[in-house]
Amino acid sequence: MIELTAEQKMILATVKGIVQKNIHPRAAEIDERAEFPWDTVRIFSENGILAPLLPEKYGGIGLDYLTFSMILEEISKACASSALILIAQADGMLPILFAGSEELKKKYLTGLAKEKLAGFAVTEPGAGSDILSMRTRAVRKGDVYILNGQKCFITNGSIADVLTVYAFTDPQKGSKGITAFVVEKGSKGLNYGKDENKMGMRGCVNSQLFFEDMEISAENIIGHEGKGIVNMMVALDTSRLFSASQAVGLAQGAIHEAVNYAKERVQFGKPIADMQAIQFMIADMVAGTEAARLLTYQAARYLDRKESRLVRKSCAMAKFVASDNAMKVTTDAVQVLGGYGYMKDYPVERMMRDAKLIQIYTGTNQIMRLVAAREIFQD
Ligand SMILES: Cc1cc2nc3c(=O)[nH]c(=O)nc-3n(C[C@H](O)[C@H](O)[C@H](O)COP(=O)(O)OP(=O)(O)OC[C@H]3O[C@@H](n4cnc5c(N)ncnc54)[C@H](O)[C@@H]3O)c2cc1C
Repeated sequence: MIELTAEQKMILATVKGIVQKNIHPRAAEIDERAEFPWDTVRIFSENGILAPLLPEKYGGIGLDYLTFSMILEEISKACASSALILIAQADGMLPILFAGSEELKKKYLTGLAKEKLAGFAVTEPGAGSDILSMRTRAVRKGDVYILNGQKCFITNGSIADVLTVYAFTDPQKGSKGITAFVVEKGSKGLNYGKDENKMGMRGCVNSQLFFEDMEISAENIIGHEGKGIVNMMVALDTSRLFSASQAVGLAQGAIHEAVNYAKERVQFGKPIADMQAIQFMIADMVAGTEAARLLTYQAARYLDRKESRLVRKSCAMAKFVASDNAMKVTTDAVQVLGGYGYMKDYPVERMMRDAKLIQIYTGTNQIMRLVAAREIFQD
């Protein structure tokens, strides 16, 4: 249904090769050891896909959202955690690309296609779904702002060279009092708490950040003071598309494992693939995943065509449909594999643990339904 250009096909073929050779063999290991795969970052960088959405003048390849979604899908079939590295990278850099000054873009974006990492920091211990209860403050003092506060769960947090951080510059103004800043690794007053020990996506780093009287130049404001919320919401739309792509790939990877296993496993004298109960489960898994994929590609198309009226709703819907589907599909894949599915010798239990996170981050699926409903009733 989607005609890919020769260039898109070539990029996806390269990614498939990387997945087969480098990502698939490392997936179980990085999960078991909760190890951040720096070797994978290097491979992404060498192949031009660490920050492919960046325009060429900042070192990227100016890729469209649809192709990037397909890359995330391809990687997630083998290792959703490795795809999350690219998602966090895009989440951290896109606010700067969308709204930053040319100086900020030149200074902070150019390294991101070549092994430097980015992160996106909104969530705080008291402010998850309710972003406006954020307590991080930036107070102006001449040419600088003094930042105080705390962020949590931030993907790439303690290893990111560049962080997009949101803080209140004027809490009295509510959403209009939020400002986005670029914060560099090594800034005096930026301290790290623990990196989280997680259920899934264990190859990713998720950190606590502390800003303690951290001085930051007014030149590091992304866009304008008080305009952070607009830029945050646009970045969240794209991040929801990326999460949806990750969920589609993860579900497809689990289907692959379940189908292969069902063809091999013999019980009652025949492969379990011949049993209708298994066939129905597999049919539902495939139908749900194909539907989620179409919704995800549609959201990517709306973003590529800048159909802003449709973007927010379709990214939110793709995110909750694809991740609810991935949760169901990966759980059913464990069921198809029976007791073996519960063991770490097979990848489906990892996939099930990884899928859970996609229902939670970049806005929980309850919040995604609120976002979609708001758009539907406003339309
Ligand atoms: C591994 C991981 C990586 C993450 N990476 C990042 C990152 O890079 N950057 C970043 O800024 N954040 C990140 N997050 C944070 C993530 O986006 C939040 O965890 C998420 O938005 C939910 O916030 P919360 O955990 O505080 O849950 P809460 O907001 O406390 O929600 C708890 C429950 O209440 C429900 N709920 C809350 N409000 C409503 C409502 N109005 N109506 C219905 N139900 C509601 C939620 O759906 C959920 O089920 C990450 C989180 C995790 C776990």
